[in-house]
Amino acid sequence: MHNLRELKGQPIASRMMSSYLQAHPPPLMVLHGPDGTGKWSAAEAFIQQSMCEVGTGCGACPACRKILRGEHPDFIRFPEDRVYIGETTDPADFTVRWLLNTRLCYTPFDGPMRYVLFPRADLIQHEAETALLKTLEEPPQHTRFLFLVRNLDDLKQTIVSRGVPIPFRLLPETVMRELGGELSEAELRLLGGSLHLAPFLKTELFRKMSEMVRNGLEHPQALVQLEKWIRQGEQKRFADLLPQDEGFEYLELLDIFGLLLLENLTGHPQRQSLAPAVFEFKAQLHREMSGLHHYLLGRLFQKLDRILFRREKAG
Ligand SMILES: [Zn+2]
Repeated sequence: MHNLRELKGQPIASRMMSSYLQAHPPPLMVLHGPDGTGKWSAAEAFIQQSMCEVGTGCGACPACRKILRGEHPDFIRFPEDRVYIGETTDPADFTVRWLLNTRLCYTPFDGPMRYVLFPRADLIQHEAETALLKTLEEPPQHTRFLFLVRNLDDLKQTIVSRGVPIPFRLLPETVMRELGGELSEAELRLLGGSLHLAPFLKTELFRKMSEMVRNGLEHPQALVQLEKWIRQGEQKRFADLLPQDEGFEYLELLDIFGLLLLENLTGHPQRQSLAPAVFEFKAQLHREMSGLHHYLLGRLFQKLDRILFRREKAG
């Protein structure tokens, strides 16, 4: 996507960003909303259109070509990783001191404007965030920042208040169908309005996980195997079944495992008693406590086993 007109299913974000393209963009735009709803492509399209010599993100002018090759000196895209403050002298690349001392202190190389994109602004570390806040209080004239986060709560309130929040929502079904290619009804339900996990549905791991969940709900032995397999996944990263470059986090895989369980419980005679256990598992999963998911998995499988196969004992 090189032009904001291609942004689908996000009328508010689309209107806001297009109007900033025409006029003066604010020093900081905070694009917030679930993964897989277009934040990143919208940010890149905005930047490319803004820098493009004909203003359309044509893809052919020298500025567009530099951006597409990832070589435009005035488009600073931070990695999707933790951002630190950096050493006082000779700070490492993509630290905040590196940005301030070796980039922002100069005027842009090529055009009138420089853009700095933080795809995971939630991973900016405390000191780095404070330093950026100072910069945002008196923003450099030629620099514009774009922060991407899932929730505005992931940023200091003082940062948010310096910027313009731009909301991204889960995508409506029509847009999911349009963008997602050949997705089945069940797959659309699993994705729930975000394309983030769409590539995962095409992997061997997803096929295997679906099969093991189906079997696990039918036989006690298969349920034991399912638990063991899911737990092993943390160490082995399911490396044999997942393309290296997909980079799904283990917690995301547990999330989709929960969704698969729910999907397979549709029409199941014990759905009423099983679904709450899965809901609880999913809700607790994202708490920032290390090792919590071991405990949650244990509890979930215990309940599944009891309700599915030992009803007489559970009374
Ligand atoms: Zn262009």
